[in-house]
Amino acid sequence: MQSERPITPSTLSVKDLPWQILWDKEKCTLCGKCTAVCPVNAIELGVFRKRTVKPPLGFLETPASVYKAYYGIRQKTDPAYNCVGCAMCNIPCPNDGCEGMVVEKASKKGRKFYACNQYPECRFAMWDEPFNDVCPECGSHVLGVKRPKGEAPVLSCRKKGCGFKKPMPSS
Ligand code: SF4
Ligand code: SF4
Ligand SMILES: [Zn+2]
Ligand SMILES: [Zn+2]
Repeated sequence: MQSERPITPSTLSVKDLPWQILWDKEKCTLCGKCTAVCPVNAIELGVFRKRTVKPPLGFLETPASVYKAYYGIRQKTDPAYNCVGCAMCNIPCPNDGCEGMVVEKASKKGRKFYACNQYPECRFAMWDEPFNDVCPECGSHVLGVKRPKGEAPVLSCRKKGCGFKKPMPSS
């Protein structure tokens, strides 16, 4: 059957795609890690334009639109670059039933740690730097990096009850 309209990038919006990325302007530092790891190039650095309406000061003035441009991470709408939902661009919390993401935090003493962004509903936290890779035993995405003195770094799965470990791949 013929589709009713041609599928071209301009006829699709992010809302038509099976996976939609959630990007937060306030939290993004534009570090580029997410676009670098995406295996299908579904996300890219782009310029966004935000329109705000300036209300008139008096009766004689007409409302004006003010445009602001800023850089951000956007999802491509070309079907050739469909996001496959692999979660390599983010680190999903390994706790069962939790839909949170593991994010960087700082303790009261300023020490860096990583925890679920659904705190206090979810208490997942770790000191070790997280490494996004799929655990072959439980499917979790959170492996922690351990760097024993004088030895090669080791990755260990952080899902409760899963003891998977492997040497850290050299990149
Ligand atoms: S969204 Fe991407 S570019 Fe922004 S902070 Fe996260 S990894 Fe870095
Ligand atoms: S979920 Fe996977 S395919 Fe989708 S944007 Fe993130 S890294 Fe790319
Ligand atoms: Zn969680
Ligand atoms: Zn595991």
